[in-house]
Amino acid sequence: MKRKIIIFGILSVFLLYALPLHADRHGFVRKVVIDPGHGGRDPGAIGLLAKEKDIVLAISLKLGEYIEQNFDDVEVIYTRTTDEFIELRNRTQIANDNKADLFISVHCNASPSRRAFGTETFVMGLHRSKENLAVAKKENASILYEDDYLETYDGYDPNSPEANIMFSMFQNHYLNQSLTMASLVQDQFRDRAGRHDRGVKQAGFLVLYNIAMPGILVEAGFLSNDQEEKYLISETGQAHIASAIFRAFRDYKTYQDNLARQQLASANSNNNKPKAVETTQPASSQANPTPTPPLVNKPEKGNAHDITFRVQFATTSVERPIDAPEFKGMKGISFYFHEGMFKYTVGNESTLEEATLIQQKLHQNGFRDAFVVAFKNNERIAPAEAMRILNQNRQNP
Ligand SMILES: [Zn+2]
Repeated sequence: MKRKIIIFGILSVFLLYALPLHADRHGFVRKVVIDPGHGGRDPGAIGLLAKEKDIVLAISLKLGEYIEQNFDDVEVIYTRTTDEFIELRNRTQIANDNKADLFISVHCNASPSRRAFGTETFVMGLHRSKENLAVAKKENASILYEDDYLETYDGYDPNSPEANIMFSMFQNHYLNQSLTMASLVQDQFRDRAGRHDRGVKQAGFLVLYNIAMPGILVEAGFLSNDQEEKYLISETGQAHIASAIFRAFRDYKTYQDNLARQQLASANSNNNKPKAVETTQPASSQANPTPTPPLVNKPEKGNAHDITFRVQFATTSVERPIDAPEFKGMKGISFYFHEGMFKYTVGNESTLEEATLIQQKLHQNGFRDAFVVAFKNNERIAPAEAMRILNQNRQNP
């Protein structure tokens, strides 16, 4: 138990300080990092005929080529283009330094059972089965090829079950986008490439847990299965896999770019509207009863139209008390349960400006990934929607 607490302490401090500042991006998909797994002295999974590191490099280069051929407005960045060893934290660093909009890590699977076959795509999160944990442990074991990995990863030992659970409790803020991309990849694998679909899964991958953007890890098939290995080393197989991931990328980019355009248009129309002096009143709970509130711990403040802004600074899959040590004794913490996760916030402000001031204080206090979220009647809504309602109320009080 003591060891558990120490690992948790180390990891939470590391996570709070290691997360880079969010880039000022507007939601468009303009930069993608393609990460061929393993390389150099780390062969990855070994089949009868081929090594994972060679197959995933070939698939990754094809994928990048398809993207570059089809999208003038997308920059492709690789973590490696040759057979070289790259430490896991450096792969993350490349993606964060380049302020990429999407991270795609390409891998092949292996199983003690030669009969296991098919494709699966992972996003960062707590594993729900032993099999998912096994995949993460296999991929995280790459750090055993690094010098001083215990120091580099703050004592993280890929063979420790506690460490695997503790660090996957912390969630990338881009879970929704990551899940969208992962589903699109599996759809294409199944429908276009005719591969067996093992589904979208979650587990704690070192290469994903610190990226400041949506990210997925693709397992393109099992090298431990004779038939699938033959497919994966064939030119056709590699082209099919790369083309399936490309099609998923194309759909994801179309969707995200449309969303970004809508948000931009709505922000512009808000800026053009005449501004009036805002009046705020405390909410009357009798006038606005909240049916089945989604909040676990509801803050008290509000305004006349029940639009509030809070600053979200942590997300966990396991409930944490609001006086947990990693929250550094902050006052006024509340949390809500949303899409299967516990989300921790401070503040409950009637204007975006007030929430932004709190966000700045949190950034100074080390919570560098804190961001503003909007609520209507304690239900989470898109910030653009909140601004639209506030502007309507200003014009028609
Ligand atoms: Zn791998």
